[in-house]
Amino acid sequence: MQISAQISRFHGTGTPFEVCEIPVETTPESTLIRVSLATICGSDLHTVSGRRGADTPCVLGHEAVGTIAAPTHLRSTTGEPLNEGDRVTWSLMASCGTCDYCTHRNLPQKCDTLFKYGHVRSEGTNTLSGGFASHIELHPGTAIYHIPDSVTDGEAVPVNCAFATVVNGLATIGTHPNEAVVIHGAGMLGIYAACYLRENGYNTVAVVDINEERLQTIKRFGATHTFNPDKTSVEEIDAALKQLTNGRGVDLGVEVSGATIGLSNLVTWSAIGGRVLTLGYVYPNAHTSIDAHQIVTKCVTLRGVHNYHYTALGTSLGFVEKHRERYPFGELIGQTYPLEDINKAFEHSMRQNEIRIAVAPGE
Ligand SMILES: [Zn+2]
Ligand SMILES: [Zn+2]
Repeated sequence: MQISAQISRFHGTGTPFEVCEIPVETTPESTLIRVSLATICGSDLHTVSGRRGADTPCVLGHEAVGTIAAPTHLRSTTGEPLNEGDRVTWSLMASCGTCDYCTHRNLPQKCDTLFKYGHVRSEGTNTLSGGFASHIELHPGTAIYHIPDSVTDGEAVPVNCAFATVVNGLATIGTHPNEAVVIHGAGMLGIYAACYLRENGYNTVAVVDINEERLQTIKRFGATHTFNPDKTSVEEIDAALKQLTNGRGVDLGVEVSGATIGLSNLVTWSAIGGRVLTLGYVYPNAHTSIDAHQIVTKCVTLRGVHNYHYTALGTSLGFVEKHRERYPFGELIGQTYPLEDINKAFEHSMRQNEIRIAVAPGE
């Protein structure tokens, strides 16, 4: 089937996005989606700023939601039929289901033939491969979930990258009720980690960030204590965390700021037997220096996790549906731009004064 699609092409750092209308031949094996809303994720900013490489021209955008745009024989991950007009979200990658990573290693997000939306060269059958476009084609091996009626597009949109990544990381490192956590970074991942851990029995949810506004925001998402390292030293934060934990230090540290000092700080603040999860370093050469003596003598578990197992998307979506009255997820989306203004949207997002800036291709 041939359709006319409006796409935004990224040609490389320092070059504005090109927005154009092109004819695209869709393939019957894929699921065609009309994109309703897409948000600019921190990793899109890494790509645009040149911190992370990209195969260009590329349609960026992987945090997105939309509606089924053409009949498909595929079903949702929970087995329901996908009808035209259904509101859906999907895993940000497609995996084969048969390779060693997909089967024995339980890491489908690192599949041998992994396809990641918003990260590939836009050409041929991958022309519609990113969220900053009127349409996106979902490949077989992508997990597709219906968005519950009560959940708005704004509440759902960052879930398929930020929230699912957090839920998967926390499931990997393990969570235990009544533990204390410190979260390094109060951006989207930090916000999701705070409310998720709070609802999973964490009574002490401390958050560290240099952005005072974000620290205020995260208090509405379950943070019990906040610290600004521009105002409070690492040692002072350590003392405060020890006071909150009967002198132990924190059981769990979560690095989601991408700042390389985060890992070292979390090891310093860790209790004996503590666990440190890192999700933030999604750009190369994130070299850092840690006192490894502390990792050994405190028996600290250090764990990195990339992408997510697709089932984490279902869990995250269910969490938003259940707790949307308690946490104002929809308010995390700041200004929304039409696709023609994608350059303005990225300029705004670079200023980092909003948690998420959105692009609405239909407007
Ligand atoms: Zn992302
Ligand atoms: Zn595979």
